[in-house]
Amino acid sequence: MIPLNHHLDPLQRSGIRRFTNMAKEVPGCVMLTIGEPDFDTPEPIKAAAWAALAQGQTHYAPNQGIEPLRQAIAAYENARGMACQSSQVLVTVGATGALYTALTGILDPGDEVIIPTPAFSLYETITLAAGGVPVALDLRADGFQITEAALQALLTPRTKAIVLNSPNNPTGTILSGASLENVKQAVAGRGIYVICDDVYRQLSYAPCPDLSVDPDLKDQILLCQSFSKPYAMTGWRVGYLIGPQEVMDRLLLLHAAQVAAVPTFIQCACVTALATDVGDMRQAYQARRDYCVARLERMGLGFPAPEGAFYIFVDIRPFGMDGETFCTRAIREAGVAMVPGSCFGAEGFVRLSYCCGQEQLAKGLDRLEAFLKRLSTG
Ligand code: PLP
Repeated sequence: MIPLNHHLDPLQRSGIRRFTNMAKEVPGCVMLTIGEPDFDTPEPIKAAAWAALAQGQTHYAPNQGIEPLRQAIAAYENARGMACQSSQVLVTVGATGALYTALTGILDPGDEVIIPTPAFSLYETITLAAGGVPVALDLRADGFQITEAALQALLTPRTKAIVLNSPNNPTGTILSGASLENVKQAVAGRGIYVICDDVYRQLSYAPCPDLSVDPDLKDQILLCQSFSKPYAMTGWRVGYLIGPQEVMDRLLLLHAAQVAAVPTFIQCACVTALATDVGDMRQAYQARRDYCVARLERMGLGFPAPEGAFYIFVDIRPFGMDGETFCTRAIREAGVAMVPGSCFGAEGFVRLSYCCGQEQLAKGLDRLEAFLKRLSTG
């Protein structure tokens, strides 16, 4: 093979997909692996896409996104305390596109990105692809919160960004006001971007403090958002990035070179999504969360309080095996699939996703319970 860009050398396949594929080989295996809502996209959103197609909204959109959607996004974000103009909004291909544009747009080779860990693996992947250096800030010993000492210890003259994801994938935890204050104190007024990956913000079951609305950091915040999770629109592939105007003017050029623009009729449907009440889905996730928590506690398992998203990060250290072994055995011996914490940079835990339906969830937890009993009786 003719050599490729050497920054691609350390990239690996997603561990989530790997374990999902392993589970697919076991007939009837219950999948508690993927962060994919089991709900269908709400009808009004689908109807808006059909209507846009019928109206001929099938041509190139402006690179930045259609104006009605950017205005709706700006109004939506401003209603919760941001102070942005529609010209600062870039419509992207999911939060994935927003993260890719943000990180590749700000990093020079050798620049460091602090990633509070456990973390969604894409931050590391994109940082590496851009020639940057991912720096894990291990939160396991600090109750999955950011302490001043731990963060200060990682800051260097090459620190270019920190990525915040709250509610978090894979832990479901929310960063406290104190954690965010520690971040603010460390970065305010310095040449460090704060990338807020807020894709689970609408799926919070407790108050969720958020730095993206902090006026003192307005020149440093890059907000990445998505339609995927709250509106059950993972396959539509739409998200957005908001940042300081002059930054966005430059990042637009990168986005235009990658995807030109998000499909026009899909953007039309997203205007409707923002006006759609998805409270019932949120309530259903919360009920499933409560059900899982009660059952896992009865099994004697430990995990940080899941306050958002649709994940629980179970501590498997008492079982004396690593997460890969635990998950492989759970799939093969019990027919229930989870993802090892190592896929999120945190050994000793497994991620359980509760975004599948209640029936599957009950079956999966029954199987997990039986598996744990067999483990403890040898
Ligand atoms: N950020 C986090 C924390 C995620 O969990 C995901 C998807 O699972 C994404 C970003 C990407 O979302 P999107 O579907 O909008 O690309």
